[in-house]
Amino acid sequence: MPDARPRGLAANAAGGLNDACFELRSVGYCVLCERLVEREADGRCLAGHPPEAIHGRMILSADEPVPVLPRFNLAAFLLPLLWGPAHGQWVGALFLPIWLFADSAIVSAAQRGGLMWIAAVVVASGTVAFQYFFARHANGAAFRRVIGRVSVGEYLRRERLWAIVAVPAAFLLLGWAVYFDLVLRPALKS
Ligand SMILES: [Zn+2]
Repeated sequence: MPDARPRGLAANAAGGLNDACFELRSVGYCVLCERLVEREADGRCLAGHPPEAIHGRMILSADEPVPVLPRFNLAAFLLPLLWGPAHGQWVGALFLPIWLFADSAIVSAAQRGGLMWIAAVVVASGTVAFQYFFARHANGAAFRRVIGRVSVGEYLRRERLWAIVAVPAAFLLLGWAVYFDLVLRPALKS
């Protein structure tokens, strides 16, 4: 069985350094706690979830706090279609058919009115709710893939850039959809 200890720890121990190196702690992402957690001696998280639920490995020194990932990712909320696949979350691609469906529900409500508006509101709210759900789980799912290779600080710095780009891009996308529905679609039909 391979040495389960973190590489740095094993190397330090082999190097004959003092006990301070054993103060190093292993942190992973617990999919059941939905946050970064410290591994206990038996490999479980503090809540008692099994080692299989804890992904990745990041080494912290004795006094370093366990980093906390934000609970919401703005770029994942606004642009799940792009953010998802760019972060290995291919489920984000599902938003293409969902958005097209929501768009056509709104267009038919505008054309036929009445009960169609109720359907359009239900579809649009469901779409936004799904985007919110996706964004709430985005940071955990994305960071889990890069844990140990990218620090939390570096990950969050990249996500801030994503957010800065996502806000104008989302407005452009929405503007394009409105332009398409109000101007291009009627022109194509006539
Ligand atoms: Zn846990």
